[in-house]
Amino acid sequence: MSFYDAQVEVMIDTATLAAKVRELGAQITKDYQGKELTLIAIMKGSLFFAMDLARAIDLPLKVEVLGVTSYQGGTETTGEVRITSDVTKPMAGKHLLVVEDIIDTGLTMKFLLENLGARHPASLKICTLLEKPARARTKVPIDYKGFVIDDKFVVGYGLDFDEIYRNVPFIGVMKGK
Ligand code: 5GP
Repeated sequence: MSFYDAQVEVMIDTATLAAKVRELGAQITKDYQGKELTLIAIMKGSLFFAMDLARAIDLPLKVEVLGVTSYQGGTETTGEVRITSDVTKPMAGKHLLVVEDIIDTGLTMKFLLENLGARHPASLKICTLLEKPARARTKVPIDYKGFVIDDKFVVGYGLDFDEIYRNVPFIGVMKGK
């Protein structure tokens, strides 16, 4: 048995993830017809999803990455959000699509919306692969959503536990946790 099969129980399998990415990409392609899109991948968790999504979008597209930290390690948020690495270009006048792995308490996304909104983009929308509504502490408008999940700590497809498991090709829950 492979390392990740032994450690992680499948919640959303690889084929289901791929189908959802295609569906979201098609919807985004339709919604932004005639426009140039700037996709902002939030590091590190959304990188895998964002790069697959980028390839499912049929538009002129630019990619930026933005690093934030809200977790000190372990499974609980500290509530404090900080930019650890900013985008490389001015965002004024651009159509921005923020791509997240998961919206949990919503505090990271609230911070990002305020921060990026202050840079005067032409538009600002959110795409998240996962939403965990049970733990929401603030309401954020989600424009594109992959899956709503129960209040479980998930890993894989970019999501980590102490930096491990990001390369697991499905979303799952760690066995024995
Ligand atoms: P929020 O600010 O919405 O509480 O948290 C957003 C960030 O917390 C996500 O981008 C992710 O890095 C982390 N996070 C929240 N829930 C989970 C989870 O179930 N698994 C993992 N690996 N990270 C999570």
